[in-house]
Amino acid sequence: MMPALPCPHALKLLLTQNALDLGFDAVSVTRPDLREATLRLQAWLDAGHHGEMNFMRQHAALRADPTALHPGTLRVISVCMPYLTTPLSEAETALTDPDRGYISRYALGRDYHKVLRSRLQQLAHRLEQHWGPFNYRVFTDSAPVLEVEIAHQGGLGWRGKHTLLLRRDGGSFFFLGEIYTDLPLPVDAPVEDHCGTCQSCIDVCPTQAILGPYRLDAQRCISYLTIELKGAIPEPLRPLIGNRIYGCDDCQLVCPWNRFAQQSPVSDFAPRRVLQSDQLVALFSWDETRFNDQLAGSAIRRIGHERWLRNIAVALGNGPPQSQAIAALHQRQDHPSALVREHVNWALRRLSE
Ligand code: SF4
Repeated sequence: MMPALPCPHALKLLLTQNALDLGFDAVSVTRPDLREATLRLQAWLDAGHHGEMNFMRQHAALRADPTALHPGTLRVISVCMPYLTTPLSEAETALTDPDRGYISRYALGRDYHKVLRSRLQQLAHRLEQHWGPFNYRVFTDSAPVLEVEIAHQGGLGWRGKHTLLLRRDGGSFFFLGEIYTDLPLPVDAPVEDHCGTCQSCIDVCPTQAILGPYRLDAQRCISYLTIELKGAIPEPLRPLIGNRIYGCDDCQLVCPWNRFAQQSPVSDFAPRRVLQSDQLVALFSWDETRFNDQLAGSAIRRIGHERWLRNIAVALGNGPPQSQAIAALHQRQDHPSALVREHVNWALRRLSE
């Protein structure tokens, strides 16, 4: 005899318990209405704030309608998983040490896509054990999904003025993941915005990429400039990048809600030693083979060795004019990549000013 199916409310409890058990910090369920969010996205794209991220323009219909992306979707389950494994004081230390490169906290450990996808699959399998087979698909920042908007509508948190999702009891240092499903789960209500009159993230942004509340010009954002941008970093922005060689966390580090940021229970997110200990000149000396070996399984590897050198050249140019840095830059002056050579020469000029 088949076991009795749990009622939707009991299934929701099972969902929450199993999500917490798998290292997720919170879970919400919604039947998202993405029409307004899609209009806002279109206005943002029309203003050109997406820069070279043309993938944001693609698949608009799939982004706007969860049932188009995954037929049969009745609900979207959102989960968040904290990724900090070291105190935030270490981020401040790295940012203020010009001999070191700052790497966005989310990228210090193993690539989150694989970790989250695996845990989301496990969560779905656990629900199947209670409910029987059901229709679902998991997403982790890998498809046209308006994940912050969906998480916001399900009450997981609110969109901060820096445009990231924020939680009262968890700040913003977490990954989001989704399960699109036909399970008839009870939905959750959105939570209020708790930014109030604060605008610290807008004021602190080194490149003034946050044009106003909830309005980000990605073309000025250091995460875009060091990760997404394939070509030359605009010269006026280079001095503002400081020692940030992969991403930027300034808008999160200043946010008062991140006093409540949670430490991650997932050991995969622990920082690679080499990324914490090696100085800029050492990271700059890696050849392509070493870059690929050291960063196997890391999200950083996807920018490739050329952009890695481009970013470090900028950071060296923004540091003190030490003989070690100047010698390291001279060694890259004949690099086969014109992109690397141009940033190296910019850094050398800057250090000789
Ligand atoms: S820094 Fe202030 S304005 Fe920005 S997201 Fe945090 S609370 Fe909101």
